[in-house]
Amino acid sequence: MTRDPAPLSEVPVPAERRRSVVVVGAGVVGLSSALWLLRAGHGVTVVDENPPVDGGDYRRACTFGNAATIAVSACLPLATPGIVRRVPAMLADRRGPLAISWRDLPGMAPWLLSFLKASRPAEFDRIVPVLGRLLRLAEDGHASLMTESGVAGLKRSIGCMHLFRGEAALRAAEASFALREREGVRMERLDVAAVRDREPGLAPLYRGGIFFPDCYSIDDPHRYAEGLARAIVARGGRILRGRAAGIESGPDAVSVVIEGERLSVERIVVAGGAWSRRLAAGLGDEIRLGVERGHHVLFPGGEKLLATPTLYPEDGFYMTPLGEGLRSAGTIELGGLDRPPRALRTAVIAEKTRAFLPGLGAPSRDWLGFRPSMPDSLPVIGRSPTEPRVIYAFGHGHLGLTLGGITGRIVADLVGDLPPPIDLAPLRPDRFPRNPFRP
Ligand SMILES: Cc1cc2nc3c(=O)[nH]c(=O)nc-3n(C[C@H](O)[C@H](O)[C@H](O)COP(=O)(O)OP(=O)(O)OC[C@H]3O[C@@H](n4cnc5c(N)ncnc54)[C@H](O)[C@@H]3O)c2cc1C
Repeated sequence: MTRDPAPLSEVPVPAERRRSVVVVGAGVVGLSSALWLLRAGHGVTVVDENPPVDGGDYRRACTFGNAATIAVSACLPLATPGIVRRVPAMLADRRGPLAISWRDLPGMAPWLLSFLKASRPAEFDRIVPVLGRLLRLAEDGHASLMTESGVAGLKRSIGCMHLFRGEAALRAAEASFALREREGVRMERLDVAAVRDREPGLAPLYRGGIFFPDCYSIDDPHRYAEGLARAIVARGGRILRGRAAGIESGPDAVSVVIEGERLSVERIVVAGGAWSRRLAAGLGDEIRLGVERGHHVLFPGGEKLLATPTLYPEDGFYMTPLGEGLRSAGTIELGGLDRPPRALRTAVIAEKTRAFLPGLGAPSRDWLGFRPSMPDSLPVIGRSPTEPRVIYAFGHGHLGLTLGGITGRIVADLVGDLPPPIDLAPLRPDRFPRNPFRP
């Protein structure tokens, strides 16, 4: 991948522009923001109900259980032209990669409508270069964070692979080649023999594939988060365990309310992942943030059967070899934050993984996570329209691990009143109209 030149330096901002900041959320986005803020010279406190410190339970954070790939090739949004026609068949297939919690449908209607609008060809053409630009900056955003966190050894530079079972899926992937190439993504086509040579443990269910040499995986995203937390503390940042119940603005400060106490500072960064919409709503900001529930299943020992993180797009999940085992992670269930996991979702992932890798043993863990997702697959990075001292950084959907670092750099610029490296207009928090039924 050709990378844009690193546009930001790590030089601290002048003393008069250094702020006291609370970051709400210790997922990869909040932690990366906190570390970039500390590098710029700001005073930082991170607040999270379950931060990745002291061996606490971190499983609620989406950062814990993702597919662990740095997917710099993923410049195509989910809302592709023509998806409207494909969705009914996808939903009818109970074992397919897409499901919906019908009881949550009324609450999701505005998000779905905006998703459909985002799939119009003109919108798709507008979104791809924005995602492409962010992805070209991704490595500059987080490589140095990994080094500072003492976890650079977690990087597995082995590329990623997409495999296709059906002829139509393979043809559609080929059609997207030009688009990805335009965004600087390097790719290699793989025929059946090339896949077999690379991954002899895979059942020969594929007709071909694509290899992305610049993608890689992080051996354990939880350990990455723990490393970031340690680096934050080492730079003098604080990590506080607590639930932010709301945000208040006053003439001289903005405050986060935590268990009845007020933490008053000059700037607040909301990086609460899928829970961020509630905090923003308290300030009067209506943000079109939805939830895409995703699952993983862990197969201890399975990492010996596969070297390359491998996605079958038709099935919607990655199989990623990690130190703790083979993690099969993905699929989408549109629904709320409060519903329990659905056993069918993990059963289907487990069953399909066994078909792809016949030598697998029994799984040892199921996990449900909540992707914070915007209808256009672009994150929200920008100031609150109602309270400019509050900065939003959430909505990274399928790409939060990949884009956490660059998001943190941009957040530090916003807090330090520096020009960000990209035009933030497409990432504005209020880019969707309050009432989606208006034209
Ligand atoms: C199955 C699956 C596979 C994925 N695979 C990949 C992948 O391969 N590559 C990739 O780049 N991305 C992937 N993702 C997406 C990625 O995991 C997310 O985009 C990313 O983790 C989001 O990070 P975050 O910091 O915004 O949110 P989170 O990690 O969810 O962190 C939010 C934090 O905020 C805290 N919080 C929320 N509200 C409050 C409050 N009021 N008070 C205190 N604390 C609060 C929560 O406790 C949580 O710790 C995947 C996601 C899933 C579900």
